[in-house]
Amino acid sequence: TINLPLQAPSAAGLIWQVTRNEQAKTPAERDAILADPGFGNHFTDHMVDVCWSEKGGWHRPRVSPYGPIALDPSAAVLHYAQEIFEGMKAYRHADGSVWTFRPYENAARMQRSAARLALPELPSEIFIESLKQLIAVDADWVPSAPETSLYLRPFMFAKEAFLGVRPAKKVAYYVIASPAGAYFHGGVQPVSIWLSTKYARAGKGGTGAAKTGGNYASSLLPQAEAAEHGCQQVLFLDEGTYLEELGGMNVVLVYRDGTLVTPESDSILEGITRDSVLQLARDRGHAVESRRVTIDEWREGAASGDIVGAFACGTAAVITPIGRLLAEDFEIVHAGDAASELALSLREELTGIQYGRVEDRHGWLT
Ligand code: PMP
Repeated sequence: TINLPLQAPSAAGLIWQVTRNEQAKTPAERDAILADPGFGNHFTDHMVDVCWSEKGGWHRPRVSPYGPIALDPSAAVLHYAQEIFEGMKAYRHADGSVWTFRPYENAARMQRSAARLALPELPSEIFIESLKQLIAVDADWVPSAPETSLYLRPFMFAKEAFLGVRPAKKVAYYVIASPAGAYFHGGVQPVSIWLSTKYARAGKGGTGAAKTGGNYASSLLPQAEAAEHGCQQVLFLDEGTYLEELGGMNVVLVYRDGTLVTPESDSILEGITRDSVLQLARDRGHAVESRRVTIDEWREGAASGDIVGAFACGTAAVITPIGRLLAEDFEIVHAGDAASELALSLREELTGIQYGRVEDRHGWLT
């Protein structure tokens, strides 16, 4: 353990222990990775972890070398999936500084996920501090090429060694980081989407609004079905009728009069990208509606020309126009230039804010 300036008590009164990785990648090795990082393949030299116990609350926050975690085979997470996570990015600006985008929203969403999964609430100050600590030691891992970033993955799980089905009394919180390349090479491409009617992602009263591993495990089979049909993503419905979301992105429909409509549901993950994009659209004078939307409304609207396009949004790809929705017995094709142009110009504005090219008038950067 070495003393760094960051070892002063944090806002939440915790003393951070920082252990430098003696086997950190060399600058040459790191640069080779940053030249073509892809997504989720490589990890930085350090990680953060903080313990929680029923008796002691949150304690022993530390930064240590990235590496395997030792878990008891009976750790509750391995059996009952008591687990949540977050996903966000750190962006490098032209002056070299590093910024996160609306991290307090991720902190709040993680608290909502924790409540649903009977996990302890992580105070926002510890969440924010954990990101700052990791970015401080691994700042050189934030790439600077256009559209690249450092993906941050905070997660929390039940580590108590106990096979009873009840909330764990020992929990771990970690943050790892992974350099991410540009999502689209050679321009943003519209995606094809498969409509899943055989499988649902979430149900009433379920965990659909929480960012928990099980939601993603259950999306893998429908995602494979989508791939078999030549589609990159899968769209899930509620009650076989109402639009919900994609496996990892929210969906927005574009109407001829410029109105944007997005599904309202208590079983979807409320995306921070969607919220931001819709705010930028409102700023431009677009009407924005958050309400229940049926698949028939989309079908009929596309046929009549009332609906001119659709796009998906999420941290990974920011905004992706939807070129085609394929179902078992019908297809919707959107070739609409106006909708694509709108999606791309909102994308340009949002990434402009994230990368410091456009004024951050909403105070979204930390
Ligand atoms: N829905 C799901 C299921 C997701 O996994 C994500 C990605 N976190 C989103 C929506 C978009 O959320 P955000 O804009 O916060 O990345």
